[in-house]
Amino acid sequence: MTVSSHGFDKVERRGLMFVLSSPSGAGKTTLSRLLLSRMPGLKMSVSATTRSMRPGEVDGHDYLFVDKTRFQEMVKADELLEWATVFDNHYGTPRAPVEAALSAGQDVLFDIDWQGTQQLRHKARADVVSVFILPPSAADLEKRLHSRAQDSNEVIRKRMSRASHEMSHWAEYDYIVINHDIDVAFAEVQSILKAERLKRERRIGLVGFVRNLQNQLQQ
Ligand code: 5GP
Repeated sequence: MTVSSHGFDKVERRGLMFVLSSPSGAGKTTLSRLLLSRMPGLKMSVSATTRSMRPGEVDGHDYLFVDKTRFQEMVKADELLEWATVFDNHYGTPRAPVEAALSAGQDVLFDIDWQGTQQLRHKARADVVSVFILPPSAADLEKRLHSRAQDSNEVIRKRMSRASHEMSHWAEYDYIVINHDIDVAFAEVQSILKAERLKRERRIGLVGFVRNLQNQLQQ
């Protein structure tokens, strides 16, 4: 996806797809919320899922909650940019809102797993920036899963065993952040996004900008 957009320094820039992955409980949701509230020009991709809604979740905000039939229709109609099965449920990224946001000059934030990240990278390598968030320890991860009070003990056990599998894909990511402390982890993730926005390759307006500067200098 190579969509033109405007950067914040007024040099035309291509929008980027900023992916955060981690085992559940490593702090990814908190980091996403902080990024969205503190980084202008970033829009969350709301995934479709067949899993049931958890207490406190809002349809259309946290996820688009759909049944399996509707999900299969979305897959067939090529409405999803990527999709995967996690914990027996399907999750996928609706294509249209992502394309609309990138065309409108926004960057898009994705909270998706390694399978989805692989698919995005395959489709748009140059525009994907991926960050893997690691918990500082297994005990910390378990504590966070219990403190969320969202899942039964059985689901928590499943999440813990899946965490190890999920983590085995860490080396496929561009950046790794270890979440010892949420403020430090946030500062690190924010720095990654800021630096990636300044990448030369992404700032397609630089040629004209520099030419203009040179013209001014020669006058
Ligand atoms: P949860 O059920 O805890 O909200 O999410 C379970 C896992 O599914 C998380 O690792 C999350 O990143 C992943 N996930 C959420 N949405 C998507 C999606 O659209 N695509 C893919 N591939 N994974 C997703």
